[in-house]
Amino acid sequence: MPRETAQTKTARLKQIIAALDRAYPGAHCELDHADPLQLLVATILSAQCTDKRVNLVTKELFKKYRSAADFANAPLAEIEQAIQSTGFFRNKAKNIQACCRKLVEHHGGKVPRTMDELTQLDGVGRKTANVVLGNAFGINVGVVVDTHVARLSQRLGLTRQKTPEKIESELMALVPPKQWTLFSHWLIWHGRRRCAARKPDCANCEIQKRCPQIGMAGI
Ligand code: SF4
Repeated sequence: MPRETAQTKTARLKQIIAALDRAYPGAHCELDHADPLQLLVATILSAQCTDKRVNLVTKELFKKYRSAADFANAPLAEIEQAIQSTGFFRNKAKNIQACCRKLVEHHGGKVPRTMDELTQLDGVGRKTANVVLGNAFGINVGVVVDTHVARLSQRLGLTRQKTPEKIESELMALVPPKQWTLFSHWLIWHGRRRCAARKPDCANCEIQKRCPQIGMAGI
């Protein structure tokens, strides 16, 4: 694809956004949660695991552990057992407990509302912090870049970057700030329902006319 001018890319993106909004009017975070703490824990659990599996696990987990103090004071082995099926459970349990101890010690048991404070918690990187800020607090600080967002941004020719940090920074320059959280939902929903990694359904794709299908030859 020849290089686009910034103006052409912005205009094309506007049409992509409008089409995704029409296709997924109810797009939202698919991790079940009732409060910011539950979303924080669910997002830590979602690394290398499907949202469906996480939701099955948290359905029981959140009945037993209702506050940061509950996670902070539980025997580690008990948390490990409860989250075992999400994979990497020892590391995740250690992070959840250490994270919740910091919440109790430094934040009165509450989840903080800033990127700086969130990323100082164990197991919380920029992606997790963006998920929590955008979905639990409605604060648009950045764009969540998971595997779907990375793949689609590249296929759609919105970025040539490879690392999540650089992709995020380019998307933040292109997408209007008030749409940052929704934009990642739209790409994640489209990635799950239409633009799969191995078998994208280009023939029925809602944004096919606006997509240069970058990197698709090798599929
Ligand atoms: S046209 Fe194909 S590659 Fe482009 S977004 Fe649609 S499904 Fe994905």
